[in-house]
Amino acid sequence: MVAELTHFIDGAHVKGRSGRFADVYNPATGEVQAKVPLASVEEVDAAVRSAAAAQPAWAAVNPQRRARVLMEFVRLLHRDMDKLAEALSREHGKTIPDAKGDVIRGLEVAEYCIGAPQMLKGEYTEGAGPGIDIYSLRQPLGVAAGITPFNFPAMIPMWKFCPAIACGNSFILKPSERDPSVPLMLAELMMEAGLPKGVLNVVNGDKVSVDAILDHEGIGGVGFVGSTAIAHYVYSRGTAAGKRVQCFGGAKNHMIVMPDADIDQAVDALIGAGYGAAGERCMAVSVAVPVGEATADALIEKLIPRVEKLKIAPYTAGNDVDFGPLVTKEAQARVLGLVDKGVSEGAKLVVDGRGFRMQGYENGFFVGGCLFDHVTKDMDIYKTEIFGPVLSTVRAKTYEEAIGLAMDHEYGNGTAIFTRDGDTARDFVSRVNVGMVGVNVPIPVPLAYHTFGGWKKSVFGDLNQHGPDAFRFYTRTKTVTSRWPSGIKEGAEFSIPTMK
Ligand code: NAD
Repeated sequence: MVAELTHFIDGAHVKGRSGRFADVYNPATGEVQAKVPLASVEEVDAAVRSAAAAQPAWAAVNPQRRARVLMEFVRLLHRDMDKLAEALSREHGKTIPDAKGDVIRGLEVAEYCIGAPQMLKGEYTEGAGPGIDIYSLRQPLGVAAGITPFNFPAMIPMWKFCPAIACGNSFILKPSERDPSVPLMLAELMMEAGLPKGVLNVVNGDKVSVDAILDHEGIGGVGFVGSTAIAHYVYSRGTAAGKRVQCFGGAKNHMIVMPDADIDQAVDALIGAGYGAAGERCMAVSVAVPVGEATADALIEKLIPRVEKLKIAPYTAGNDVDFGPLVTKEAQARVLGLVDKGVSEGAKLVVDGRGFRMQGYENGFFVGGCLFDHVTKDMDIYKTEIFGPVLSTVRAKTYEEAIGLAMDHEYGNGTAIFTRDGDTARDFVSRVNVGMVGVNVPIPVPLAYHTFGGWKKSVFGDLNQHGPDAFRFYTRTKTVTSRWPSGIKEGAEFSIPTMK
């Protein structure tokens, strides 16, 4: 039977009333397993009203007590880890270890946010003028919202709502309509952890609900993660409505392999970072750039058998599976179409995964690992984010040509260099115009206490996700200049008091 999912508003599951639904698939079998309601403008408004009503009392709870709710939430995430991972894999298609990683990377941000009392202390200058003190407060925005993608349905919602709520905001989460069950489970766990009703609401939906969020006067800030075209749209519409907006978009991450690199280590890195989660990660390595023909030949020779041997299967097949299906039939068709395009553009497809069929799961959205050699800058498969298990190799003659590729590409999310030479690595780190850089580390995803964000078309807006930036994004600064002298009522002041 196809389950009917809900929204989560004012502390309870609420059935959709718009009459519109989207299908939620099991990507391994291709079957529809649930339908998710798509909220109307009125349903978004109901969530905002609940959030706005709950927010002042939540902001008045002292930061340490707010942090204790997150402390308990972390415990509950550990308790329910298996259940969450299973629900996540069933809708997304990623393996169970990968699904647990998705939860853990979110949980780590919840842990970081337990430090909210420290992060929210503000600043104080005693004696800025005669009898005058100046202090800055970090106050919540009020109601904040997060619009999140399908590829990390646990991690990215937590990256959004944990810091927002720790800062004293209430929150509207609009998760991806492709895998909405885990976000609903997270909201239940936050309630069980002691969050008052209305502080975290989940509104399921599509463009209608996103537009309603962006236009709603009751929402002060919006965090978005998804593809670049939508990121740009959300940024433009949200800022036009006077909101604080940060949008994280798509990627094309280059990994440069210098002639002095340990080739076996580089091959391991490319296999994990290129094909893990079927390439559906914004930090996946999608372009390998070996420097010099000998490096390229050695790399390709070692990559081919590894790509051919990748274990592709449904998440139920066990923990030694390398990756599972893509999220939808459309995603599968899009990736296969781009591989066809690469062949017609003249790139050499040295491992062809287009014919992969999973026995017993013929209707699943699987694509086998694909490896391209001799990709060039002008090809569509180089310019476009493929978001599938497809690695492109662009051969560079020199280090300058290799760094130039990463620098000229419109995306700037992540990049890496593999080398034994400190001087080259240092030059790369210093010059490359990309937000997250790995040195002999292929997926340089920063941990919770640093910040996460790309450059160029991978981001619109200001400040990064998690780390100290999250506390800046979800608060407004209020600066107070205060004096308590005697006789202040005696006359008007015409000069700036701190200038005396
Ligand atoms: P997507 O852009 O299709 O969807 C993201 C969100 O936007 C979803 O909640 C969706 O419902 C909503 N949306 C979709 N179309 C819309 C429209 N026309 N108007 C308004 N809202 C709309 O992205 P996706 O396919 O879910 O996720 C994959 C993308 O996300 C990739 O491009 C990936 O690189 C990117 N991503 C980026 C980061 C990062 O931190 N930079 C992290 C993860 C994923």
